[in-house]
Amino acid sequence: MNCLFCKIVAGEIPSTKVYEDETVLAFRDINPMTPTHILVIPKMHIPSVDGVTAENSAVVAHIFEVIPTIAAAEKLVNGYRVVSNCGADAGQTVQHLHFHILGGRELTLEMA
Ligand code: 5GP
Ligand code: ZN
Repeated sequence: MNCLFCKIVAGEIPSTKVYEDETVLAFRDINPMTPTHILVIPKMHIPSVDGVTAENSAVVAHIFEVIPTIAAAEKLVNGYRVVSNCGADAGQTVQHLHFHILGGRELTLEMA
C-alpha cells in the first residue's frame, strides 16, 4: 500500500521512534509545531478517525493507554494536547490515522 505511515511502520522510511509495541508506533513529527511533537499511530492501516469501527477500535483505546506513558517519558508535566485531523477541512495530510501529542510550551487555540 502506498501509505507514508505504513512505510514508516515497515521501516522503509526512517523515523525517530519514541515508543513501539505490537500494535502501536510513536515517532517524532518531522516538522514539529511545538517543542515536543509526537505522532502516535496504529500499525494497522486505518485511514482516519472516520475509519474507526467496532472491529478495530481496540487499537484506538490502546493508543490512549499509551499516550500518558509517552507524555510522562517526555516530561510533559504541565500538560499537553492530543489532536487528530480528520479529512480535508481539518487539514489531514497523511491518510493513516494518527494522533498528535503537542507539548513543551503553553499552547494557544491555533490548532483549533
Ligand atoms: P496531519 O496534517 O495529517 O494531521 O499530520 C501529518 C503530520 O505528519 C504532519 O505534522 C507532518 O509534519 C508529519 N509528517 C509528514 N511526513 C512525515 C515523515 O516522513 N516523517 C515524520 N516523522 N513525520 C511526517
Ligand atoms: Zn497506512
